[in-house]
Amino acid sequence: MRSIDKVLVANRGEIALRVMRTCHAMGIATVAVYSDADADAPFVRLADEAVRIGPPPARESYLVINAVLDAARMTGATAIHPGYGFLSENARFSAAVAEAGLVFIGPPAGVIEQLGSKQAAKRIAARAGVPTVPGYSGDDQSTAAFVAAAEAIGYPLLVKASAGGGGKGMRIVRHGGELAEAIERARGEAASAFGDDTLLLERYIDRPRHIEIQILGDTYGHVVHLWERECSIQRRHQKVIEEAPSPALDPERRAAMGRAAVELGRAAGYVGAGTVEFITDPGHAFYFLEVNTRLQVEHPVTELTTGLDLVREQIRIARGESLGYDAAPPQRGWAIEVRLCAEDPERDYLPTTGTLLAAEVPVHGPMHGPARGPEPGGGAQPVGGTVRADLGVTSGSEIGIHYDSMLGKIIAHAPTRREAAQVLRRALEQIWVPGLVTNREHLARLLAHPAFLAGELDTHFLERHAGELAARPPGLDRVRVAAIGLVLHGIAGRREPAALTAPGWRNVRFADQQVTYKLGDADVIVGYRPTGAGGVTGDELELAIGGKSTRISRFACDGDRLWFVEHAGHRRSVRVARAGAKAWVLSEGQLFAFVEQPRFAEPGAGAVAGGLTAPMPGKVVKVLVVSGQEVAANAPLVVLEAMKMEHTVRAAAAGTVRAVHVAVGDQVDTDRVLAVVTA
Ligand code: ADP
Ligand code: ADP
Ligand code: MG
Repeated sequence: MRSIDKVLVANRGEIALRVMRTCHAMGIATVAVYSDADADAPFVRLADEAVRIGPPPARESYLVINAVLDAARMTGATAIHPGYGFLSENARFSAAVAEAGLVFIGPPAGVIEQLGSKQAAKRIAARAGVPTVPGYSGDDQSTAAFVAAAEAIGYPLLVKASAGGGGKGMRIVRHGGELAEAIERARGEAASAFGDDTLLLERYIDRPRHIEIQILGDTYGHVVHLWERECSIQRRHQKVIEEAPSPALDPERRAAMGRAAVELGRAAGYVGAGTVEFITDPGHAFYFLEVNTRLQVEHPVTELTTGLDLVREQIRIARGESLGYDAAPPQRGWAIEVRLCAEDPERDYLPTTGTLLAAEVPVHGPMHGPARGPEPGGGAQPVGGTVRADLGVTSGSEIGIHYDSMLGKIIAHAPTRREAAQVLRRALEQIWVPGLVTNREHLARLLAHPAFLAGELDTHFLERHAGELAARPPGLDRVRVAAIGLVLHGIAGRREPAALTAPGWRNVRFADQQVTYKLGDADVIVGYRPTGAGGVTGDELELAIGGKSTRISRFACDGDRLWFVEHAGHRRSVRVARAGAKAWVLSEGQLFAFVEQPRFAEPGAGAVAGGLTAPMPGKVVKVLVVSGQEVAANAPLVVLEAMKMEHTVRAAAAGTVRAVHVAVGDQVDTDRVLAVVTA
């Protein structure tokens, strides 16, 4: 037995936090390593000690083996947990940790090396009698050998990098004529991306489901499985939603896949936590894909359905304890996980960047102990749902371009699949992550989709249902509620003497006021006047928006939460976050990004639109005009620098510069008004 009393976590974000939580619960001290981009990140704050290991690029920090080992020596850590991604499946790292006399919380180098190669893993699977996707994984890597093999496999087929991962290094070939070129390109890409140009071919399975089996192996040769996870909802071959159990498996197939995974684990001498990935075809045959020799992103759905803490199991195994059980605990209830990402599903899932102004997830536990589902042979036990949030970010976190776009995971557990989906959807609607675009609402729509609820999943689900899952323009009434909430939040904020006054608010009693916001391309104009004794900061107001007026009888705010009561006594609440002219309002599950237009522009608000706002976040490097100056159409006004490029903002039409709102050196957000020019 080896003692583990201080663990260094060689990772960042949500998984570093996740690992540290279990360490602390086991009485183990923790050490974080961090790049300059993460100096104040939540995982650094949670750790007992933290060591800087380099600048933001992972290549110069989280992937530098010696820097991680130096940090372990310096702090006296006795074990290293690699998380997922980064060095977690690097055999050299596992070996180097062992050579340094430390415990690697993961498989030994030999196991990682064998299974890290899809080619070698498929051969082990074949030897263990586990079905693999029909294909070619031979040593002869000549183009001629691939062409010959392809004839036998048939088309379409998939060319894969043996060392690939994270959905990268795969290409579909639909006809024989495309093969030779695809092989050449894939070889080059694999060599540069993974440092290994070995390729393999697989039949391209039509409409597959991705179903994987969690396994655990101890140092005494025991290997058990902890049932399956289904991860068929994917974009770019990367998982988006994962669940356990899989709605596709009957008890026989579930047992058969579990047995196959255990056979494979035994054949590979598996030690630690690992995942054996399979795809199944519509006829329900299953084929081995690969083994991930690490903790998986989606491990929480297994934890919630089996009651086991997988990080604890990893540490117990690394310490040299025996597993202590020969069979998996029964699956209880249903768990569904979503990956919350800084990305825009409406723009081909492009990553987004920005500063999070808040990061709150409504987590809740069950009302009567852990959620239970029907037990095999037993009666159903009615109990409520649980929401778990494994987030890596907090209010103020800068979401940049250096790392994965995943902010964290939200996981719901309930007695049935439908309930878990409903609990999770409601949690998504209440998540408060203003400041940047995320896939939050897209995930909520996914969970409500009839085909998802019917369990009709495959890896092309997102493409097939893209139309139905796309965002629709919000109805007028929803915009109205959000805009009213925003205006009232500004007014309520002015009631307290110490509160910040939004720029442009004039505290004139009994005067009609108006404020204009941009919401996408639309102008939202809200007029309001007091109707009660308290004047504009009193309780009673009349608001006019989109040609409709409404009377408010009471409203108040508490920090970012604002509630108001409309005429018929209908009380509503919204949350509001502001940064400069931008304001985010969460209303009825929808996040609205408003941009307040400067008062100066009214009534000719149109003149402000277009060229005079910052088209991207950046730094002001030149201001070329002053207030009062006459300018011609297209005259340069302000120069911004963003992403190492200069961008000149020009006058949309000839006129007079009425105001310049920025100075050289200012950092500006997208849509910030830089200057105002009117005729
Ligand atoms: P999981 O299989 O646990 O869902 P993913 O396949 O999405 O995980 O990968 C988990 C993390 O590891 C992601 O950040 C992914 O980008 C990264 N990753 C996995 N394998 C590789 C690899 N071979 N090269 C680079 N990154 C990888
Ligand atoms: P990675 O190492 O990048 O995770 P995998 O081999 O695990 O690569 O495959 C990732 C995903 O690609 C699968 O979940 C599935 O969606 C798709 N995929 C892989 N192999 C096939 C195949 N032979 N036919 C159809 N889809 C496949
Ligand atoms: Mg995979």
